[in-house]
Amino acid sequence: MPEFQTDVAIVGAGPAGLLLAHTLHNAGIDSVVIDNRSRDDIAHTHRAGILEAGSVRMLEAEGIESRVHTAGHRHDGIDIRVNGVSHSFDFPDLIGESVWLYPQNEIFVDLSAARERTGRPTFYSVTDTAIGDIETEHPWVTATTEDGEELRINARYVVGSDGSRGPCRAMIPADTKQRFFHEYPFAWFGILCEAPASHEVLIYSRSERGFALISQRSENVQRMYFQTSADTEVGDWSDDRIWSELQARVEGPDGFQLKTGPIIDKNILPFRSAVTEPMQ
Ligand SMILES: Cc1cc2nc3c(=O)[nH]c(=O)nc-3n(C[C@H](O)[C@H](O)[C@H](O)COP(=O)(O)OP(=O)(O)OC[C@H]3O[C@@H](n4cnc5c(N)ncnc54)[C@H](O)[C@@H]3O)c2cc1C
Repeated sequence: MPEFQTDVAIVGAGPAGLLLAHTLHNAGIDSVVIDNRSRDDIAHTHRAGILEAGSVRMLEAEGIESRVHTAGHRHDGIDIRVNGVSHSFDFPDLIGESVWLYPQNEIFVDLSAARERTGRPTFYSVTDTAIGDIETEHPWVTATTEDGEELRINARYVVGSDGSRGPCRAMIPADTKQRFFHEYPFAWFGILCEAPASHEVLIYSRSERGFALISQRSENVQRMYFQTSADTEVGDWSDDRIWSELQARVEGPDGFQLKTGPIIDKNILPFRSAVTEPMQ
């Protein structure tokens, strides 16, 4: 049975967990990280695409060998399109900062490689995560490793960076937290397609047919979303129907045309907001 004595047990190897592990390592603080998904699964989950300038600075300050400046693209603004009319926002002009198009799954690749270089343990594909004694000086985390071994991590602190659906938040005593939650009556339909970018920056478009976001992933792969009813299903949307809906939502007197291509992924993202206080 692998058993560890460490400073910090980190549950969740997303950007929060892995960046924290690296930050702690740089400060001479040891950690053990676990995640119930495989490294490959996390590396292929498409979520965030845009990194704020502050996040880029944080990666640099922690010495993560990120490819954000080589594989990423600096974006100096966005277009907000209202009923077919674009309004450009120039970020450097307005706030002296830019954002970076650099997908979250690429950040994960960078962070997990940085973690590996530290030589400290990260267990992916664990099952049966359990956390205990969190109100004592000797909290612990247990799980079953990919190889079926029982893993035990004895720590001084447990950090729950296991996302909004993980088990850690539920462990915070009810009388010390307050949760605000709202579920929206709509979802975003998201696609990935093989096509060149339709515009130099992202377009957030509001039209009578609803919202659309013309986002990007790389030179050859683009990410686009349109707001739809929460009960819609992927099977309801043929590629032709998706393209005509997206185009209808950006249609305008300037004749703007989306650049289309094969759709390689479709998914539906239900919308909810959740905040748990106190934050720290
Ligand atoms: C479609 C979409 C688009 C987004 N776009 C942007 C954007 O453009 N810019 C931006 O800044 N943000 C964006 N976000 C938000 C961003 O993805 C999240 O803020 C980010 O993933 C949060 O990171 P995290 O490390 O806190 O959590 P996560 O990335 O959710 O990581 C939590 C980890 O904990 C693991 N875990 C869960 N349960 C257990 C368990 N029982 N045992 C062990 N491990 C467990 C999970 O497998 C997961 O790997 C987007 C999100 C989505 C869904």
